[in-house]
Amino acid sequence: MSEHCDVLVIGGGIIGLSVALRVRQSGVSVTLLERGDCGREASWAGAGVIAPAKPQRHGPMSMIQRASVERYAGFCEEIREVSGIDPEYDRCGAIEFLTTEQFVRMARSDVRVMSDVTTEEGSPVVEVLSSEQVRALEPGVTGEAVGYLRNRVTAQVRNPRILQGLRVACERLGVRVRENEAVGELIAGTNRVDGARTQAGAYSADRTVLCAGAWSSEFAPQAIAELVPVHPVRGQMVLVERDRPLLTHVIKRRKHYLIPRRDGRILVGVTLEPDSGFEAGNTAKGINSMLDGAMAMVPSLSDSRVAGMWSGFRPGTPDTRPHIGFVPGWEGLIAATGHYRLGVTLAPVTADIVRDLIVDGSTPFDLAHCAPGRAFSTSAAR
Ligand SMILES: Cc1cc2nc3c(=O)[nH]c(=O)nc-3n(C[C@H](O)[C@H](O)[C@H](O)COP(=O)(O)OP(=O)(O)OC[C@H]3O[C@@H](n4cnc5c(N)ncnc54)[C@H](O)[C@@H]3O)c2cc1C
Repeated sequence: MSEHCDVLVIGGGIIGLSVALRVRQSGVSVTLLERGDCGREASWAGAGVIAPAKPQRHGPMSMIQRASVERYAGFCEEIREVSGIDPEYDRCGAIEFLTTEQFVRMARSDVRVMSDVTTEEGSPVVEVLSSEQVRALEPGVTGEAVGYLRNRVTAQVRNPRILQGLRVACERLGVRVRENEAVGELIAGTNRVDGARTQAGAYSADRTVLCAGAWSSEFAPQAIAELVPVHPVRGQMVLVERDRPLLTHVIKRRKHYLIPRRDGRILVGVTLEPDSGFEAGNTAKGINSMLDGAMAMVPSLSDSRVAGMWSGFRPGTPDTRPHIGFVPGWEGLIAATGHYRLGVTLAPVTADIVRDLIVDGSTPFDLAHCAPGRAFSTSAAR
């Protein structure tokens, strides 16, 4: 079997599906190859928080993140219109525990920087709250802190729903989605990539987009894998439920967070395990740390029922930044991988950038900090 398309997308997670959708909308033929079923790996396991960039950061990656956050509501609306599936985008806001005086000072400085920025309703985007103010908003949040930072633009989506919506939207718009087709190797000459081979045959393409998440280095020749190094970073999550809904905001304390879902259940996260390899599952240490973290924020969660737990592999990179752009020295190959902790957040802008690169040959965004083949300092290595 051999098949030709204009653009071949490898990987059917949130990045691959978003890229396939956007590129297809520019009128070219697109085939997406997915090793299993679409949207069952990191993108399914993730928490679904659409995280705004830190207020005082203005580097190229923060600009990219900001653009993605701004595009999210429209992106979800578009998915809902084309697929009929609602990703449940909700700008629920977040409340973060500030556990030291220094964190409070830094938060106040963020508030000053953002003082002239408001939401559409005219409310401040960020503000520092006292425990009384937090309890008025979230009576369940009784864990102690020096202060609390409220952010009104943090949003969330329901991962399985945005993934189903993207998959259906891709098919409705004419992307050829091939599931259960693992790429065994790229069709690579000395300086170009012309597609990929699966057990079913060869898929030739003018452009190949590498979106295989934590597995992106697994099937590429060494010379390409070195330009887009990716490794798995396991993250665990627990889902808890109570008889009545308890929270409305995302609540964060250090590396732990609580995400209230529309059905009243609460997602508890998260672990960051860079040495996990591809070993899936939950560990006693991971679960213990997440549930301890959860109860430090909302002590009354102690009597909630555990409804589920799982893990996923974030695509980590040596400097934690993604690889987005043309792969130098390899004509025909574009990378869109290594999104680490922000793949759900960065999906809309990543898809727009890849479309721009394919259609126009360039993008308005500065990709220097996420360019494939960039140098990594020793201190950035994990
Ligand atoms: C516990 C956890 C919590 C997270 N929380 C958040 C959050 O709140 N907000 C946020 O923005 N991000 C979050 N993330 C990160 C986010 O989930 C990832 O960055 C994102 O899902 C990466 O998307 P992806 O499409 O690159 O990878 P994946 O979803 O892993 O997709 C890659 C796909 O490629 C396929 N594939 C692999 N090898 C091959 C092959 N040889 N041939 C064909 N297909 C192949 C895989 O089967 C898979 O479907 C979280 C991640 C985890 C694990």
